[in-house]
Amino acid sequence: MWAEGSALSTPNAGLVARFGACQRPRCIACANCPKKPMSLDHLPGAPHIAYRGSQLWIEDVRLGDLARSHGTPLFVYSKAAMLSALAAYQRGFAGRKVQICYAMKANSTLGVLQVFAQAGCGFDIVSGGELQRVLAAGADASKVIFSGVGKTREEMRRALQAGIGCFNVESEAELEVLSAVAQAGGHRAPVSIRVNPNVDPKTHPYISTGLKGNKFGVAHERTLQTYQRAAALPGLQVVGIDCHIGSQITEEGPYLDAMDRVLDLVDAIEAARIPVRHLDFGGGLGINYNGDTPPDAGALWTRLLERLDARGYGDRHLMIEPGRSLVGNAGVCLTEVLYLKPGEQKNFCIVDAAMNDLPRPAMYQAFHLIVPLESHGGAPITYDVVGPVCESGDWIGRDRPLHVRPGDHLAVLSAGAYCMSMASNYNSRGRAAEVLVDGNKVHVIRQRETAIDQMRGETLVT
Ligand code: PLP
Repeated sequence: MWAEGSALSTPNAGLVARFGACQRPRCIACANCPKKPMSLDHLPGAPHIAYRGSQLWIEDVRLGDLARSHGTPLFVYSKAAMLSALAAYQRGFAGRKVQICYAMKANSTLGVLQVFAQAGCGFDIVSGGELQRVLAAGADASKVIFSGVGKTREEMRRALQAGIGCFNVESEAELEVLSAVAQAGGHRAPVSIRVNPNVDPKTHPYISTGLKGNKFGVAHERTLQTYQRAAALPGLQVVGIDCHIGSQITEEGPYLDAMDRVLDLVDAIEAARIPVRHLDFGGGLGINYNGDTPPDAGALWTRLLERLDARGYGDRHLMIEPGRSLVGNAGVCLTEVLYLKPGEQKNFCIVDAAMNDLPRPAMYQAFHLIVPLESHGGAPITYDVVGPVCESGDWIGRDRPLHVRPGDHLAVLSAGAYCMSMASNYNSRGRAAEVLVDGNKVHVIRQRETAIDQMRGETLVT
């Protein structure tokens, strides 16, 4: 949450969007703040999302044209941005045995899943619905891993029938149920136990998952016992170990700490003669929303693999589960300015996207940069950008300097992850349409949801 200090109206005039004092609670002195000032010359998503002159483009398509022809709110994704984010991981893992499992909760639209399936990715799923989706998108079931603290028996049965690669089991109780379900169906379920390494990922508390107080994984101290139980259960086959400590992590330290803690456990588990074939270090790498500077995925993994080699585990099968870092900066949400409403304390810019489309600001006070699709020049006015939903929490950006008129279009950046997949029908608003851009080609990958779509399955009482 930055108090922004200057015009967004002349995109190519250099560092026109320099942000002022950082208002984050953790930022003590802005002079020492690790975040970089933002520039409209290098937006999150660049070079795939960038201004050419006064117009904002995604790959070779002008976003203003998409807003006019497909309507708003509209999510637009760059295929090249997704593949280049994936390529950064692939560079880091060059020469290693690795399976990159896209954590599809970040964005589970079929057309997005298809991009990663065709690129050879595996998938990290957390529900039976995600399993069905990913199979519909053409994924190889043997590359699917199933995480989550509350898998139902039915979800387990379906995943076993599909032949998924691994269940990431999150509790001792789940182990017992999975073994029974597998045995009843004549299967042996491949399992990895998700360890809670008690490492602080230094991120928002709602997206921190690897601390003692979080509901995820098996406590570090109980891990060996849990592996011994898993190895003894007839319906299970131990194949790996995994951890995932949180999301939007922007430092490498928590990853190194978690890796050390997991490898200490592997030492102990294998000393108890339980072989651990694969090591899964989860996802969580952050992206640039407003000057955040997470490590590059390739550089991060080069460092982590050095540590793995030093500990003697460099030749193991590896897995990772990145979500946000593969799609977050590949997507934008386009929205139209409906009304400008000056106020005594605040000016409001009321747009047609809302918290049901973009839930992150309301849920986590998250920041998305908001920029015009076409600049007019002129002095900016500071607005709170808000949606039409009947909640004071329905805001998309606070204190944003914009030079806009009703009918103008804005782009909410970094909207590829945890936006559409978290979208709801609150206020009976239909979910937005989505398009995938590949060079100069535009593919509609989700139609705008109608009121009839929303009412499907409901009945009046007669
Ligand atoms: N793996 C697991 C088990 C998760 O819970 C999550 C998300 O919280 C991810 C992977 C993906 O995290 P991210 O999108 O931050 O990479």
